[in-house]
Amino acid sequence: MRLREVIGHGGLPRLITRLIVRGRLPHALILEGVAGCGRRTFARAMAQALLCASPSDGDACGECPACQVMAANTHPDCSELPHESTGADLPLDLVREVVVDAAFTSPLMGVAKVFILPGIERLAPAAANTLLKVLEEPPRGTYLIMTTTTAAGVLRTIRSRAQLYRLSPLTAPEVASILARRGLAREEADRLSLMAQGSVRGLDERSAEVPFAALSRLLAGPLDEALVGEVVGQLPKKVGEEAGERTLAAEQRRVLARWLDALVQRERMALAGADAEVVCDRIDRVLRLQHDLDRHLNPHLVVEGLALPTR
Ligand SMILES: [Zn+2]
Repeated sequence: MRLREVIGHGGLPRLITRLIVRGRLPHALILEGVAGCGRRTFARAMAQALLCASPSDGDACGECPACQVMAANTHPDCSELPHESTGADLPLDLVREVVVDAAFTSPLMGVAKVFILPGIERLAPAAANTLLKVLEEPPRGTYLIMTTTTAAGVLRTIRSRAQLYRLSPLTAPEVASILARRGLAREEADRLSLMAQGSVRGLDERSAEVPFAALSRLLAGPLDEALVGEVVGQLPKKVGEEAGERTLAAEQRRVLARWLDALVQRERMALAGADAEVVCDRIDRVLRLQHDLDRHLNPHLVVEGLALPTR
């Protein structure tokens, strides 16, 4: 992606292209922003601008061989350490091998070498010491783009040698544009953007897995056991590794709680054009059921509770 195509972050993409044009881009920089605000996308767009074979105005062309391999994430002069979602410290060996050793070799394809280090706050002191070799005297054409959710959590030795740039949280319209670009229907993108809180993390997956159709039909009543079965059947059937110590029942309640949240959001959006009393009544019902979930009620009973009682 080119910098000018990055959605959000105000004037920062423009500032970066101007620094590139003047040859003034710092060799080490830290992008700070909330999870899901697009730090990695921004870092990759910067890398592409630096590696492009025919850049214009400090930005990539989007078409040259270098841009094409960047788009495929296979540029030999752009290395990226594992994403922070792994949670683990950045291993010393990896930092040494992927960044430090590589930084002192010549570029294979272009004129620069770019290293993207996500979650730089995970860097332990020993690995940071290794990195100092590059930070203190960066080889010509070498750029370290580090990202973090919290610059205050980054070791001072690193922070003091890098320029800090803050990425703003995404606005709701920016989130909607990003989701639409990822292929979500515009209406769905707009709806999800309202619960985004500055970040696109997990939003499109979240939308895909909520069984909205069945939930909404239950909410419109009357009780239909086949529909209840359909919803309950989509709850997790085993506890994934990421759930840690949670029991299956707790995991099912967690997922159902998220579905109910999404359902409330959707109903709130319907308030504008619909019979407000009916919609408020539905929202009330969902909120009551959320409360029941907290009281450890069985998920099957809670889903049944969505439907209006037949009189
Ligand atoms: Zn290019």
